[in-house]
Amino acid sequence: MAAGWESLLQDEQQLEELALQAVDRALAEGVLLRTSQEPSSSDVVSYAPFTLFLFFPSLVPSALLEQAYAVQMDFNLLVDAVSQNAAFLEQTLSSTIKRDEFTARLFDIHKQVLKEGIAQTVFLGLNRSDYMFQHSADGFPALKQIEINTISASFGGLASRTPAVHRHVLNVLSKTKEASKILSNNPSKGLALGIAKAWELYGSANALVLLIAQEKERNIFDQRAIENELLARNIHVIRRRFEDVSEKGSLDQDRRLFMDGQEVAVVYFRDGYMPSQYSVKNWEARLLLERSCAVKCPDIATQLAGTKKVQQELSRVGVLEVLLPGQPEAVARLRATFAGLYSLDLDQEGDQAIAEALAAPSQFVLKPQREGGGNNLYGEEMVQALERLKDSEERASYILMEKIEPEPFGNCLLRPGSPVRVVQCISELGIFGVYVRQGKTLVMNKHVGHLLRTKAIEHADGGVAAGVAVLDNPYPV
Ligand code: ADP
Ligand code: MG
Repeated sequence: MAAGWESLLQDEQQLEELALQAVDRALAEGVLLRTSQEPSSSDVVSYAPFTLFLFFPSLVPSALLEQAYAVQMDFNLLVDAVSQNAAFLEQTLSSTIKRDEFTARLFDIHKQVLKEGIAQTVFLGLNRSDYMFQHSADGFPALKQIEINTISASFGGLASRTPAVHRHVLNVLSKTKEASKILSNNPSKGLALGIAKAWELYGSANALVLLIAQEKERNIFDQRAIENELLARNIHVIRRRFEDVSEKGSLDQDRRLFMDGQEVAVVYFRDGYMPSQYSVKNWEARLLLERSCAVKCPDIATQLAGTKKVQQELSRVGVLEVLLPGQPEAVARLRATFAGLYSLDLDQEGDQAIAEALAAPSQFVLKPQREGGGNNLYGEEMVQALERLKDSEERASYILMEKIEPEPFGNCLLRPGSPVRVVQCISELGIFGVYVRQGKTLVMNKHVGHLLRTKAIEHADGGVAAGVAVLDNPYPV
């Protein structure tokens, strides 16, 4: 099949044949998800949704890719600095926790841990900073941060396997030169190296890594990729639910954490970022884990550092300079990626932000303190919410953000059970970052790979797990 992209688009049968080849390669590479019907079993699995091909590929200007990679170490430093600055977290979140129960509960655990004294001495951050490319009239798009994920940043495992799939598609089309331009990518290895470093610094040869996940976990293969990398380094991982921790987890007098009688060096959360993931028992389990001297990824303060409210406060004039003193270049690199972010606290500044959003709704996004996709409000829905919240303190649990408008392009989004057709899409680039700190000394600070997710333009919100975006690869130009 050596057809060009243009003729392929005219030929439905050829397009479907190509899609079949792509899907089979994705399955062979392990680009997998459990099914929504059987989320706790791997007996029957399917492929994780992905783009068919890089036809008018998902072009990403090399300069923006480089910029995103370059600023990742700054974001690692920034997250780490925020997590250690209890006064900043308290001040920043004070209005939010009055109205947002979930953030308030996280904050409550943070306060309890601080009061008792932080037992852990090694800190591990595995994060992913997400961006869109703001389209501009002069033709030079700008890199704008959407958010940073400091807990359970996912798809590093599957993103390590998609380059082979897209190279395959291009090779089928005899586009070997283009195929060779698809960047290699291996976030799962880099994330595992971070966990391995933290495990090593914890310093107990028989201790384990405890991966907290739900039993109903469709994205298990993404997590397994990291587990496998750890096992290859003779580091053993056990998967447990919060419920298991509440039943069988314990601390000894030195606050060492034991699970099923085995010592835990590192707790890696792939759960615990949404209110629905916590029962009373799960909150107790989270507190137990946080009180322990095991390395938490992330610890509760680092999870709070990733809230949308913190993101908004970081964009305020002068704040970065205080958090990263003596690092004007890092501050400049960080600030260059910030979009407009606005507090909705019950004050004049908040009133003005609301007035501006109501005057031009298409230019803003309303965001609550939630993770996992599908929570933001746009357009008419945003207007209605703002009208309802306008005079209430509840509005402080949201932030307003400038809406980023990337230039759309055509691609096919392949999903089990969906027809193969070309739709207009936009992409979101994520860069994975890893850092490890021992006491006050930063012993690792790196970027470890990328994730490109692409979605149809009719969806304002939502990631791969939410069923909206699909896995993609940047084609650098
Ligand atoms: P979550 O924590 O739920 O992932 P995000 O802030 O990443 O929240 O928003 C979810 C999705 O909404 C993003 O993946 C992106 O598609 C869209 N989105 C978020 N913020 C903006 C924005 N400022 N402009 C355009 N789209 C946005
Ligand atoms: Mg997101």
